[in-house]
Amino acid sequence: MTASLHPSKPSAAKGPGVPTVWLDGEWHERGTAVVSVYDHGLLYGDGVFEGIRVYGGKIFRLSEHLDRLYDSAHAIWLTIPMAKAELVAITEEAVRRSGIAEAYIRHIVTRGVGDLGLDPRKCPKPTVIIIVDTIKLWPEEVYETGLKVVTAGTPIPQREALSPRVKSLNYLAHILAKVEGIQAGADEVIMLDSSGYVAEGSGQNIFVVKQRQIRTPPAYAGILKGVTRDAVIELAREHGYHVEESILNRYDVYTADEAFFTGTASEVVAIRQVDGRLIGSGNSGPVTRDLRARYQALVRS
Ligand code: PMP
Repeated sequence: MTASLHPSKPSAAKGPGVPTVWLDGEWHERGTAVVSVYDHGLLYGDGVFEGIRVYGGKIFRLSEHLDRLYDSAHAIWLTIPMAKAELVAITEEAVRRSGIAEAYIRHIVTRGVGDLGLDPRKCPKPTVIIIVDTIKLWPEEVYETGLKVVTAGTPIPQREALSPRVKSLNYLAHILAKVEGIQAGADEVIMLDSSGYVAEGSGQNIFVVKQRQIRTPPAYAGILKGVTRDAVIELAREHGYHVEESILNRYDVYTADEAFFTGTASEVVAIRQVDGRLIGSGNSGPVTRDLRARYQALVRS
């Protein structure tokens, strides 16, 4: 069925629901949503994506996520074949159809179907996909105890090779870092940039707290500028914390009173140990707990 350009007004999703996929104008259930093996998203990782949460049927910061999707696409010379307002409407319709109240939305835009060469001009039409499903990265107790983390040897891609600001379908460096974490028996990893500065987790931004002062790497440090990161910085400043965006070394993480990750899927999650060093008291500290509670309130407000 082809999607209407003017989908029905969304009403809030209420129940556990059914994973729902919109693929180039057609509605699917999980099993029938398939793409061509000639799609350059598959052949070359040529494309961009977003991950967005739905809380109580309401989409959190859809506009900010879609702005990042359009910027990521523009940066790789890919034109998303619809206006943002239309993508907003289809996304809302997808959430409504799924009936999933606590959902995770994945937008994917690939270069589209082409031939076996790299040339993007041979892909006449980008493939646009919206998946509405659920996500759970960590068991609930992790939010109490915090994560055991190691530093990965795999650095984030060098800024001028593949800008970390582009949320592209090339996640192999982050996946290889994640594999190192798994091999080391850790829950998550810290990735450094090619100069050795602390960059981010495999799918999270990182913050440290020292004497109630909060620090996180600046966007130019070679990180993805997280929507959750920005929301947490805003929340922290509104509630009187001093937040500084500055370059971090591993020393700053090892000697922090608290450290935590932020991300759409991870939300706000404490780090209890890094490379065998306990962080502060070795579980979720007071600032992390406070910001996590405020973030939970914000996403449901
Ligand atoms: N860094 C990376 C590499 C990520 O994949 C993500 C998740 N999108 C983040 C940071 C956090 O970004 P956000 O808060 O927008 O989910």
